[in-house]
Amino acid sequence: MVRFEHVSKVYPDGTKAVEDLNLHIARGEFVCLIGPSGCGKTTTLKMINRLHEATSGKIYVDGRDIATVSPVELRRNIGYVIQQVGLFPHMTIAQNIELVPRLLGWDRERRRKRVDELLEMVGLDPATYRDRYPRELSGGQQQRVGVLRALAAEPDLILMDEPFGALDPITRETLQDELKRLQARLRKTVVFVTHDMDEALKLADRIVVMKDGRIHQVASPEELLRNP
Ligand code: ADP
Ligand code: ADP
Repeated sequence: MVRFEHVSKVYPDGTKAVEDLNLHIARGEFVCLIGPSGCGKTTTLKMINRLHEATSGKIYVDGRDIATVSPVELRRNIGYVIQQVGLFPHMTIAQNIELVPRLLGWDRERRRKRVDELLEMVGLDPATYRDRYPRELSGGQQQRVGVLRALAAEPDLILMDEPFGALDPITRETLQDELKRLQARLRKTVVFVTHDMDEALKLADRIVVMKDGRIHQVASPEELLRNP
């Protein structure tokens, strides 16, 4: 689903953020990128949806060289969730979730059904929450909606950058459990950035440990637990 071939990223100020990255992520796989702050995780993630451009090397998404696909077209099929959800405060929960489906031209009825189905999936009663505004929700509920927004148009690929990093430990654990259940059901390809090894061990099919802009180790959670 995602393939990096000899990818490097040097920022305009000369910072080498990623060096000669080679990685293949299979369809339906949940991969965690982990490593200390500054090791290049976010840069790697943002190159996949062209929020950053690779300086050299090639990245393929679904078999296509992303340099040949416009960022707008590319992002139609890629959900993106970050730590600061960034729900639009003047839009209701439903309007936030149906943002991409609306751009894609889904009709009102189809959008409405999708919003309700998504809210139900994470235990938020649609009748209660559909027409509320983000400020009326707790931080954990807002982050749930952020995840739903990324799922709304059924993208094949979801990128997550420390999506639960700002939540209290109990809410974080609840959302990790929910994400695991969602993943068991939807089998999306997910690339998930975290610096929390417990989170990676819990969620990932495969863990990519990064260090100084390079891949240090790739292993399954079982392998890492046996051989840390
Ligand atoms: P991580 O997500 O693992 O914390 P990043 O990918 O954010 O790492 O950063 C990797 C390196 O690139 C760091 O040294 C960081 O300071 C640097 N960096 C990140 N973004 C930029 C940028 N826009 N311009 C210059 N340097 C950057
Ligand atoms: P590109 O889109 O080409 O990957 P960006 O637009 O992200 O690069 O970077 C633009 C500029 O933002 C960089 O040249 C850098 O000066 C600045 N910048 C953004 N984040 C950081 C950071 N974490 N450290 C240093 N500079 C940064």
